[in-house]
Amino acid sequence: MSVTQQEVLDVLGKVKSPDGVALTHANVLSAVTVNDGKVFFSINVDAAQARAWESVRAAAEAAVRAIPGVTTAMIALTAERKPGSPAAAPPPAPHRHSHGVQPVSAHRPPQSPASPMSKQSEIPGIAAVIAVASGKGGVGKSTTALNLALGLRDLGLRVGLLDADIYGPSVPRLTGIHEKPQLDDNRKMIPIQRFGLAIMSIGFLVEEETAMIWRGPMVMSAITQMLRDVAWGTLDILVVDMPPGTGDAQLTLAQNVPLRGAVIISTPQDLSLIDARRGLAMFKKVNVPVLGIVENMSYFQCPECGTRSDIFGHGGARLEAERLGVPFLGEIPLHMSIRATSDSGTPVVDSEPDGPHAAIYRAIGAKVRDQLQGVIAAA
Ligand code: ADP
Repeated sequence: MSVTQQEVLDVLGKVKSPDGVALTHANVLSAVTVNDGKVFFSINVDAAQARAWESVRAAAEAAVRAIPGVTTAMIALTAERKPGSPAAAPPPAPHRHSHGVQPVSAHRPPQSPASPMSKQSEIPGIAAVIAVASGKGGVGKSTTALNLALGLRDLGLRVGLLDADIYGPSVPRLTGIHEKPQLDDNRKMIPIQRFGLAIMSIGFLVEEETAMIWRGPMVMSAITQMLRDVAWGTLDILVVDMPPGTGDAQLTLAQNVPLRGAVIISTPQDLSLIDARRGLAMFKKVNVPVLGIVENMSYFQCPECGTRSDIFGHGGARLEAERLGVPFLGEIPLHMSIRATSDSGTPVVDSEPDGPHAAIYRAIGAKVRDQLQGVIAAA
């Protein structure tokens, strides 16, 4: 039975705003997207009233999920500050973020309520959320995020992977996962378990061919829901594969997700190093410690003879990391088997665990783990 947009609007007509107006008449709804049982929309309200609306959002979500045939409902509350309105009050007793000192301490210094980090709160059961980011697309960010997650798994940690690249989710391709997450008794999405990782991607919910058009505020809310409305269980580290770039969407994300650190992926070419620098500046702005830079496609390794060629003038990222005072985490070669395994859904750390590439990702994982040791131990 396929759900229609009208059915969704009919139930929303019965949900009331804090002022008692039907949602469909309150002038707050974005376009309602219904796709194969999956319903997405946002409720856009003035930031000053956001708290009063949270229960409305929850009621709307419950009502939509109760429609027979609805498998997923992602309903976001987006708060835009209207000119002249007071800033939204911070959430009660938020856990706050640490500043860029390493190793990352389990005790976070207080921040002023005006700090962007005041929007954050921890995700129960997850000791540390870290971001894998890059200044631009195509540098191997997603490939590195997945293999880093697997490297951390090999170190004995409980690891999850969230593909937050909602414009071009690549985790379904990289993992070969094409099934849809089920809902648990609390109506939370159950992440797909594969390779010993808990994995979630917007690509599991929407057909690959479906063009996704996200209005600005929906980006954040979709990601927030994938963080918080997913039954992650107990994890030491959740690796978030960020959308590429350092624009507003990324900044908002970095502000809203309770990040313990960020790993920046760069290729040796100058251009992407400049982009990596932007990434550093962005995380600095929101007080997220940069755990380090990884140089991907650092040198070419011949699949036949193993000879190494520094075709891109390798070493730039290491120097740049030194210059900027952030750790250099490692160099990953441009190698046929990394490409082939990542594009066939059999990531190299899992499919060639004894090979040289797996060892590199594990070594990078160890440097990340060491910096998060305090947080993981405290949890
Ligand atoms: P991004 O997430 O930055 O857009 P991807 O991880 O999707 O990048 O990688 C882009 C392409 O480069 C993919 O085809 C992937 O298999 C390939 N790739 C990534 N890292 C390497 C590497 N170290 N060696 C060879 N190919 C790689």
